[in-house]
Amino acid sequence: MTVQTMPASPVSIWDAAHAVDARRPRSVQTQLGASDTICARRAGYIVAGAERTNAGDKRAAILGTYIHRGLLEDARREYNWLVERTVSDGLVRGHIDAVHLDVATAARLPKRHRPLVPAEAVTVEDIKTKSARVWDRVVRYGPTAEEMRQVLLYALLLKTVGFADIPGQRYLHRLGPVEVARIRFRFVCRDTGEEHIQEFEFDDWLAAQARWWVERVMEAVSPEELSRDHDGPGLSVICDNCPFREACWPGVAPGRPAQTILVHDDADRAKALEDYVRGHEKQRAGQRIKDKARKMLDRAPEGNYGDNHLGWSGGNAREEVDVMTMVEMFDDAELTVPMVPDKEAMVAILRRAGMVVPRRTASGQKTPISISVTKARTNL
Ligand code: SF4
Repeated sequence: MTVQTMPASPVSIWDAAHAVDARRPRSVQTQLGASDTICARRAGYIVAGAERTNAGDKRAAILGTYIHRGLLEDARREYNWLVERTVSDGLVRGHIDAVHLDVATAARLPKRHRPLVPAEAVTVEDIKTKSARVWDRVVRYGPTAEEMRQVLLYALLLKTVGFADIPGQRYLHRLGPVEVARIRFRFVCRDTGEEHIQEFEFDDWLAAQARWWVERVMEAVSPEELSRDHDGPGLSVICDNCPFREACWPGVAPGRPAQTILVHDDADRAKALEDYVRGHEKQRAGQRIKDKARKMLDRAPEGNYGDNHLGWSGGNAREEVDVMTMVEMFDDAELTVPMVPDKEAMVAILRRAGMVVPRRTASGQKTPISISVTKARTNL
């Protein structure tokens, strides 16, 4: 008798990627990494060694890691860049993507470790991969405050301590503190490969501020003392994928937004309503500006104007399903044309005839809850 074995259902290749990612040192370390400084409370959970309960969706981040690794490795081979170098001072640790040494500093290294083209000034570079969805914002506004803090911390460690004393980079450690002059962000679009570079002079005051931020996290007795720097699950993708999401937003009633736990009394409700009204006013004012500008540009051809590019899309004939041809095709194939009542047409006929359209409660369905905020009236 032949035994037929069923082919195993195909596994997702992401299972392997997530498993490997979970074992990466930065997914388990309790020492604060410079790249963990995205949120004060999250940094607090890492320092406290809190359990990571939310796996989150790490696919975009993992793709970013792959691209990162490939680009840096090729830059090392082709240009002899110093890549993936560790800096640490016992309080915070980080891996700098690339350090570009100037002629004087490079001359202190053995010849084989010198870059092919030295930098004008010592530069700490960080590579960030971004999706096309946020690319315009990246090109317009550059790094976020959190990204800037991360790179300032790297640069400050290099400037005050130098390269960490670990195997594989002892020759760099011997340089001692390195006089960093610049930081550079190299943004790479994950969808198109486009590259955008932004450089800043190293700023001692901003670096001290970044350092102060870390010290505040370290001084906290518990993570809950530290601010939630993002708006929470459902509003912030960082919170959606945060490993400490459950600890940070405890006691949320089933089916309710996590942010409900921020309201305890009428004072909190009053504050939230004030925020709502302020946000609404800003949105209205912004919408008015946009509406007017949109109408003004209605006849403008595509092109660059000042800092912005104008492009147009749409305006094509809309396609719809051709019911009559479908009926003919069904006829030819001797298939039965389904006779489902046409609700919209029946409603229109009853209304035209002046008759009441009958209604009933749809089972299990509820209308969406909408908020209504108006000026409170006081009884005189
Ligand atoms: S859930 Fe959001 S606010 Fe809370 S620790 Fe994580 S990133 Fe910070």
